[in-house]
Amino acid sequence: MPGTPKKGKYSSKKNPCAVCGNSTGSCKLNDDGSLYCYHSLPDSAPSGYIYIRELSGGMGQEFITPLVADELFRAATELQNRGKKASSKEIAQLTGLPNSWARALRAIRCLVNHITKPA
Ligand SMILES: [Zn+2]
Repeated sequence: MPGTPKKGKYSSKKNPCAVCGNSTGSCKLNDDGSLYCYHSLPDSAPSGYIYIRELSGGMGQEFITPLVADELFRAATELQNRGKKASSKEIAQLTGLPNSWARALRAIRCLVNHITKPA
């Protein structure tokens, strides 16, 4: 639901932000595998992380961690192996993850098509 705060951990010395390295509590790693970063640009996602969207007012960016990105990639591959079209809706259904994440995955799939395309 929009406006509902997610559960998660704010960046700290022990858990610095994976995108910008902040350790003073301004960024947040959510329990669902998304990351809110307030000191980065959309193209600053580290390897394996996927950029999702701009947070309200352009104050920050939302990314997803490699763990959930892998889950989405696996679902896309599985759908294609079954001879189905790996649409964002199908990927979201299979993983139980938000449709917007699956859409972000599809947007970058052209770059990694060789990974997900069945042989
Ligand atoms: Zn950050």
